[in-house]
Amino acid sequence: MADDRAKLLAKFIEPLRVEPGSKVKLARDFDPGYKASFLKKKDAATVLEAGVAVLAEYQARLAAQDTWGVLVCLQALDAGGKDGTIRHVMSGVNPQGVRVSGFKVPSAEELDHDYLWRYAQRLPGRGEIGIFNRSHYEEVLVVRVHPELLDRQKLPAPARGKAVWDRRYREINDWERHLADNGFKIVKLFLNLSKEEQRIRFLRRVDLPEKNWKFSAADARERKYWDDYQAAFSDMLSHTSTGWAPWYVIPADHKWFARICVSTVLAHTLMQIDPRYPVVDKARREDLAETRALLEAEAPKGAAPDPARAELAAKARQEQAAEESKQARKQRKRMRKIGAKLAEAERPKR
Ligand code: AMP
Ligand code: MG
Repeated sequence: MADDRAKLLAKFIEPLRVEPGSKVKLARDFDPGYKASFLKKKDAATVLEAGVAVLAEYQARLAAQDTWGVLVCLQALDAGGKDGTIRHVMSGVNPQGVRVSGFKVPSAEELDHDYLWRYAQRLPGRGEIGIFNRSHYEEVLVVRVHPELLDRQKLPAPARGKAVWDRRYREINDWERHLADNGFKIVKLFLNLSKEEQRIRFLRRVDLPEKNWKFSAADARERKYWDDYQAAFSDMLSHTSTGWAPWYVIPADHKWFARICVSTVLAHTLMQIDPRYPVVDKARREDLAETRALLEAEAPKGAAPDPARAELAAKARQEQAAEESKQARKQRKRMRKIGAKLAEAERPKR
């Protein structure tokens, strides 16, 4: 059953996955407006709810097992829907098991270290899901599109130059491989928005007072660099989608569809880990039984030794009684039928 579900999810997300080693050209390969024909917007809430429930269940198991960690990297251009996606997709999981880290323009202290330093500090622990709202990939995106940002990183001369981007791809792949080898699954999601949809969302941010805070004129000016960003994203996807940390390109023009895609990718990742509640061995079970006996012996006068257990037993009895009366009703019905047939049979023939 779980296997079938995993297979179904894998099939659904397969077209979103960037094949390791493939050369991506965003405009040619991925349509921001795509949505699966079999899904309708009116069903979106129901499907997302199911995804959220699966995530909640698996996240609880991930935390209990305390062996694997999951790192989700979310990248998008402004208005791509990162914040809303996190809010909706993670709405059902226990906040104790999830840590969201946003990355903005680096501080002076951060610039005083190697470029991966600040990201390494926010990695999830075992049993945790860490979400990077923007990630180390900014280091080959915004920093590439705006070379003056690289200047601010104070790199020594041999570490600069044109080779810097290929080197960063390699270093990032190596870093992620190290993490994957040590029990941290990495999922990378690029919310792929069209230029026109970004324009429309920016206009809403200008129009609606409650959205004004999200908007700055600089965001709109950044649209001048649209093609540079598309090229940087394409190159990043081509070089850093790996077997151990694949990229998924999420069609982002329809928010409801993007959220379903993201929740499906995450559910699939957790199903692959398949975390289990730790099994209690015989010695531990005996230990627990002993503890139970001690606690029950401490019950005050008149109190049930174990009120919760007593309640459970009472409930079970009630259910059994209901079940029995259902059976009794069925039996009576059957008896009436048989009785009617018998009565008919005994009716004297004319
Ligand atoms: P926001 O996520 O809208 O609050 O914006 C954060 C800003 O920080 C964006 O404009 C990013 O491009 C910028 N940013 C994030 N990481 C870096 C980085 N490593 N270097 C320079 N700017 C960055
Ligand atoms: Mg912004």
